[in-house]
Amino acid sequence: MAYVDANRARFVDDLIEWVRIPSVSSDPAHAPDLVKNAEHLAATLRNLGAGRVEVWSTAGHPAVFAEWLGAPGKPTLLVYGHHDVQPVDPLAEWITPPFEPSLRDGRMWGRGVVDDKGQVYIHAKAIESFVKTVGRLPINLRMIVEGEEEVGSANLETLLRERAEDLAADFVCVSDTAMFGRGIPSLCVGLRGLAYLEVFVDGPALDLHSGSFGGGVANPVNALARILATLHDADGRILVEGFYEHALPLKDRERREIQSLPFDEKEWLRSTGAPAVFGEKGYSTLERIWARPTLDVCGISGGFQGAGAKTIIPARASAKVSCRLVPDQEPDDIVGKLTAHFAGVAPPGVRVRVERLHGGRPYLAPTDHPVYEVAKRAFSRAFGKPTVFMREGGSIPFVRTIADATGKPCLLMGFGQPDENAHAPNEWLDLENYHLGIKSAAYLYDELGRM
Ligand SMILES: [Zn+2]
Repeated sequence: MAYVDANRARFVDDLIEWVRIPSVSSDPAHAPDLVKNAEHLAATLRNLGAGRVEVWSTAGHPAVFAEWLGAPGKPTLLVYGHHDVQPVDPLAEWITPPFEPSLRDGRMWGRGVVDDKGQVYIHAKAIESFVKTVGRLPINLRMIVEGEEEVGSANLETLLRERAEDLAADFVCVSDTAMFGRGIPSLCVGLRGLAYLEVFVDGPALDLHSGSFGGGVANPVNALARILATLHDADGRILVEGFYEHALPLKDRERREIQSLPFDEKEWLRSTGAPAVFGEKGYSTLERIWARPTLDVCGISGGFQGAGAKTIIPARASAKVSCRLVPDQEPDDIVGKLTAHFAGVAPPGVRVRVERLHGGRPYLAPTDHPVYEVAKRAFSRAFGKPTVFMREGGSIPFVRTIADATGKPCLLMGFGQPDENAHAPNEWLDLENYHLGIKSAAYLYDELGRM
């Protein structure tokens, strides 16, 4: 750890160099920058004396692979990260330019500093600290850094399949999430999935005069309102038959873990601007956000939306509906149940159809596996505080992709802060966290080497 302390400033400078490359994966104009970005990382890793460093081309942007296999008999860790970044718009809101990283208030500011270049470098610098001091890592380590995470990881599954031998490992570590709060080492052990659909209610072939036809045919907007009103009871419980069938109930241990977190509900509510918390009865707010499924209408359209009055029976109405899913719910199954529900409650006189928009499967870490205790210990050694298990209400589909492809426990060891503006203007990285993150990764390798 003396090496990590002694090189603290240079580790920051090195990251600044990498962040200067504008690796925006969504913009085809930046495609050459993604190649340059991948080459830059590959060169950095090559300098660490990796056994093998390769830039893997894909049907989209390239990925970087590296491996250090100098610890026979020791476990192999696969580290996942991504080298692409989000777009920067609206550019005018950046205090300093996104690709000219600046240091102020103990933070580095720039696009990709925390999502995910800083977190990739946390591992690279931890590796360096072993290589430059004792000459080798205490474990075998493989690293895959893709270039398409921000655009849906379209080629990741293919890479994992075609390169399965290169990527074989005992454990996976993903560093691309945030901590529960400042200075609280946190392992994310659950992610919600998603089922997103649009329901359409069709009536007459075109908008009709509500005087000449009103009372004679069904109104699709009225019908849609009736349909949507059947989805929840007054306490927020979802009334779709079988919706909760595969939702794993929270274990007492998990509820205790969630309850023990320093969650300030009043402050959280203030940050939303909503007048009160609300949701399924019998669960705390964190439980509802992290570990219970939801069904939300995200938008409704239909009928006359202009100024003033227009007297019509609208021809059609529609609603976009998103469900956040928990293990072991499956998006296809939920869409099927909702489709059946809509058909069952559709009032007479209209046609109802459902279109599936997109989906992703939830993830729950196998926390009974001893590697989670090992990771907790390593994380706590660096931060000097107990490590907590947390979950994430959002969806990170690639985690499930990796977990399923490898069949190995996945450690979501993230070093972000909850308010670091990832994906927004003025993204920042807490420099203290970067430093302690490097130590955490080093301790993780060390502890895994003793397993
Ligand atoms: Zn990310």
